[in-house]
Amino acid sequence: MPWPTTRDTEVFDLIDREVDRQNQGLQLIASENFTSPQVMEAVGSVLTNKYSEGYPSKRYYGGNEVVDEVEELARTRVCELFGADHANVQPHSGANANLGVYLALLEPGATVLGLSLDHGGHLTHGSPVNISGRFYDFVSYGVTPGEERIDLDQVRDLALEHRPAMIVAGATAYPRTIDPEPIREICDEVGALFMFDAAHIAGLIAGGAHPNPVPVADVVTFTTHKTLRGPRGGCILSRSEHAAAIDKAVFPGLQGGPLEHVVAGKAVAFAEAATPEFRDYAHQIVANARALADSLTADGCRLVSGGTDNHLVLLDLRSISEDLTGKDAQLALDAAGITLNKNTVPDDPRSPFVTSGLRMGTPSVTTQGMQEPEMARVAELTMRVLRSPADASVLDEVRTEVRTLCEKFPVY
Ligand SMILES: *Cc1c(COP(=O)(O)O)cnc(C)c1O
Repeated sequence: MPWPTTRDTEVFDLIDREVDRQNQGLQLIASENFTSPQVMEAVGSVLTNKYSEGYPSKRYYGGNEVVDEVEELARTRVCELFGADHANVQPHSGANANLGVYLALLEPGATVLGLSLDHGGHLTHGSPVNISGRFYDFVSYGVTPGEERIDLDQVRDLALEHRPAMIVAGATAYPRTIDPEPIREICDEVGALFMFDAAHIAGLIAGGAHPNPVPVADVVTFTTHKTLRGPRGGCILSRSEHAAAIDKAVFPGLQGGPLEHVVAGKAVAFAEAATPEFRDYAHQIVANARALADSLTADGCRLVSGGTDNHLVLLDLRSISEDLTGKDAQLALDAAGITLNKNTVPDDPRSPFVTSGLRMGTPSVTTQGMQEPEMARVAELTMRVLRSPADASVLDEVRTEVRTLCEKFPVY
């Protein structure tokens, strides 16, 4: 049977519109990036046709001699990139990578410490609405009230009190460096495993702009599509002693056939992340976030923790107006061509659907080639909207200026 030859304009017109949206607005969602044409070519390849349940040279179906080399290449490249003993490149997402680790290394109901959601942790770090919170007994630690840094004294106290089987570090909305060493010491003191979820910062680690947790933690999970700038997916790095358990947990424990077209895209991204250009990129992401933070602060906006060490800033909107919610701010900014997300601030009195904060990240705009002067401009445009979120003429004006700015930095 031949395939249809008429073009599916319904779908492809939508994709064209999305290309325009990505080109014409400011993409400041801290967990997003613009992946490379080579990564997209791999993801759009015939590897999507192949069933490859199992692992290289241990597959259930035939015809995997090429796929085996693809997956082996991805594993070798990522182990070299981060200095890891073992890699599992099959997790379909960051959430699946985390679940794979829990399934491999924890008994159901085991006690685990993780950063609380409203202090910057991820749903998979024990949220009651997530499988992690349903199947395991997560106890949350938070950030300190004043400096808003991870409260290591609290982590240690909770660890001594609850004797967790595992401590999870890592965050989805935390603007500071996470030093893995003191957490390792606490793990050793109480005999807990140490999992570092590097989903957001994997690209910064690869580029030498954040300490590498791989030599320190038992397991490191990450997403390949955030700062690492690869295809949408997950990955698990571990010490050799956990390799067999983790591989068995990912397949057959959690997933079926791997997405080998995405694994090929991951392999491309791992090689890209090993280049000197990517090191410069990672450092520029951080320099841009710092420039953004400086301009926002100078314009009177309080940032959670007072600034940033990484790729993101968290705005406390209460410093602009008591009535301004993250929800309304996100809507107004989107209408002005500035795309970002509402976010809770530590101990936010508002719900996660409303929030008192905004999260802004620089990975995408840095890929576009924007630098410090543009970040000052982005801060200025953002603050203009935040001061008049209900003024349609301000939103229109900013939208035009955003478009002019983005036209100078075309993406696709
Ligand atoms: C994004 C993220 C995840 C989940 O990744 P998905 O690919 O969306 O499933 C897990 N942990 C942290 C810390 C994250 O930021």
